[in-house]
Amino acid sequence: MSLDPLFKPRSVAIIGASARPYTIGHRILTNLMEHGFTGPLFPVNPKGGTIHNLMVYRSIIEIPSEVDLAHIIVKNTLVKPVLVDCAEKGVRVAIVNTSGFSETGPEGLALEEELVATARELGIRVFGPNCQGVMNTDPAVSLYSNFTFARMVPGHISILAQGGGVAEIINNYFGMNEIGTRMYASNGNASDISIPEILAYYGDDPETRVIVLHVESFRRPARFLEVAREVAHRKPILALKSGYTEEGARAVSSHTGGMMGRDTTSDILFERAGVLRFNDLTSLCETAKAFECQPVPRGPRVGIVTNAGSPAIVATDEVVRYGLVIPPLSDRSADVLREKLKGFAAVSNPIDMAATASAEEYGVSFKALLDDEGIDSVIVCFITPFFVDTEAIAREIARLAAEAEKTLLCVAMTNENWKDTVDIVKKAGVPVYYFPEAASQVLYQMERYRRLRDRPPGEPKSYPAEREAVDRILAEATIMENGFLSGPDVNRILDAYGIPRVREGTAGNFEQLRPLAAGMGYPVVLKVMSREVVHKSDSGGVLLDIKDDPELKEAFDTLHDRFGGLADVRYTVQEQVSGGVEVIVGAAGIGELGHSIMFGLGGIFVETLEDVTFRLAPISEADAGAMLDGIKASGILKGARGRPPVNREALVEILLRTSNLVAAHPAIAELDLNPVFAHPERDRTRVVDARIRIER
Ligand code: ADP
Ligand code: MG
Repeated sequence: MSLDPLFKPRSVAIIGASARPYTIGHRILTNLMEHGFTGPLFPVNPKGGTIHNLMVYRSIIEIPSEVDLAHIIVKNTLVKPVLVDCAEKGVRVAIVNTSGFSETGPEGLALEEELVATARELGIRVFGPNCQGVMNTDPAVSLYSNFTFARMVPGHISILAQGGGVAEIINNYFGMNEIGTRMYASNGNASDISIPEILAYYGDDPETRVIVLHVESFRRPARFLEVAREVAHRKPILALKSGYTEEGARAVSSHTGGMMGRDTTSDILFERAGVLRFNDLTSLCETAKAFECQPVPRGPRVGIVTNAGSPAIVATDEVVRYGLVIPPLSDRSADVLREKLKGFAAVSNPIDMAATASAEEYGVSFKALLDDEGIDSVIVCFITPFFVDTEAIAREIARLAAEAEKTLLCVAMTNENWKDTVDIVKKAGVPVYYFPEAASQVLYQMERYRRLRDRPPGEPKSYPAEREAVDRILAEATIMENGFLSGPDVNRILDAYGIPRVREGTAGNFEQLRPLAAGMGYPVVLKVMSREVVHKSDSGGVLLDIKDDPELKEAFDTLHDRFGGLADVRYTVQEQVSGGVEVIVGAAGIGELGHSIMFGLGGIFVETLEDVTFRLAPISEADAGAMLDGIKASGILKGARGRPPVNREALVEILLRTSNLVAAHPAIAELDLNPVFAHPERDRTRVVDARIRIER
């Protein structure tokens, strides 16, 4: 079903409408009336009478004409019978504002489930319960189906927020600042009409240019991903996700599981979908404001024009800090400016004309930046001195902005005495900011969207693997209570997926270990091997730098003293790897979405270094490359301080093969390859230690 009856109803009933001013039933009716809803309104209340001169119906059944949308504002236990009446009347959608459902505990949850089941049976859709409602500023509809106070300013931002409070903070901010919104939906418990469904509807609305999203939890993350990915390709989705996800609280024992921590699932979900995630409402709203009226930048090159030097330097510093570029002016632009500007003007980027700059000088400089092929977006900085005609300058900016195709932002450092000046710029569809860094940050966010949108699709890459063999190992493995597989099982799984590991041999006594060590050549490493010892070096289970047979004997005795009592204890001798960088490749199960893949600096200090990045599996070659580049220490991989760079292809391949492995075997709950020795030589890039935990 289309959501038209929700956002463009031809008529609205308010069941639980009230004549008492401080009630939700009163406020919704009043809002709908005051904002000029274009269709008929039907208050319903068993008490009858009139509200605001409208006749009150005792039951929805008594309403003589058709009803598309009904607000239900009655006691939680009465919602169901009212819904039955609505269905009988032919109502298409019910907004259940009433609370006291799943948000309150098991009893409320049961009530909500019953409500949804009834609605499905009756063929009526439910928005909410425990929600604010919807709005549509389209003058043809003018629907204020909501009980708050935010002003309605028609424009192009559509808001979709689960939490009513955040929805209103955003909505009210836009209203207060004359920033135009299109549609609004705050669906509370989201029991039936879901976030992805509304997102798809906004995606198809031609007047919605940017979507602002607030989510607290993903009910169907896979569905969200599918819809968001498609919509985000056409218009920016700016998201704020608050709260912690389940995996933060889940018991984990691998490095990867531990590092997954706070809300990584949302990050990788948004990344895959191309949704811009924000951590604060301020920058989210400021960015939405720009997308509302400006095109997506064509690239990262920013031109700045100003009549005050230092704010432009602040803007420049910020632009550069965010990884955008302030390119030099083209020769042609420079020639034009040298000819037309005063001698003391700085003919460079930023163009600084000094405070005396006239409308004509602003026009010349702004036009030069608009015409300059080497520039993608322009920040016009503007202080309002007493000695120039600031309105003339504003008109000149507005005139040029009307024809411009580049992304334009204005920084106006002024006060209320120049409101008319600033309004001229705003009316021309150029967003105005007070602080220079705000504009720089917004441009960065806009460019971030462009990059996400334009990145190559990147198909997941698969390598040949012995999938059935691994299915068998996983099915037959005897696992301990902690879920970890034995060392030999882990090795067989890595081998089946072609994940390279160092040479090693495992035995139960010294006599068998000695020839293994001799075979691979000293120096070697000796490690304890038991499913009870998850982190071996923590308990002294890894001995390095063993140079000959006597040292091997000594090492063996030490480990045997420490671990000899464990039921499944064995000892592994490994060739000792030298050179290279220790990195970690990991994976962790994240429910319906499959697995996350992790890459970062590895070794025993993974948690301390905390330099890791995540993606949603399965990953593409481009994803894997971006992961290598995405950690803080990426420079070390590229060869810092005269060291040779590590072999990139080998690491990319290990990441892809790991992604293949977990994607094919959902039973893998956690996997750590830590360390992988990243080495300049491909054949010496190998896994030194691996652990796999399964959940069957
Ligand atoms: P655990 O992670 O269980 O403590 P590891 O096998 O990862 O045990 O060993 C811990 C550390 O010892 C590694 O991070 C690495 O620095 C070093 N190490 C282990 N095996 C080797 C090896 N074969 N060659 C070189 N260094 C090794
Ligand atoms: Mg390790």
